Amino acid sequence: MVLNLDDYVCEYCGKPCKNIVYAAFVCDDPECLEKARIDRGGPGGHMKRKAEGKPIIPADLEEVAEELNKQ
Ligand SMILES: [Zn+2]
Repeated sequence: MVLNLDDYVCEYCGKPCKNIVYAAFVCDDPECLEKARIDRGGPGGHMKRKAEGKPIIPADLEEVAEELNKQ
């Protein structure tokens, strides 16, 4: 699948999307990148998952894992 970033805007400031980080569309602004990181749970995100009793897997792999589990 090819994503055309030109079709998207930054989720935080509405400028043209330049990156996809932490499963969020963001521009090149470090502030927006930081917001995406924080929204994603930050560096401690997996520890929070552990506290919630959820399996610890990189969030970006979560969808893939769900697909695999269906098979
Ligand atoms: Zn932005």
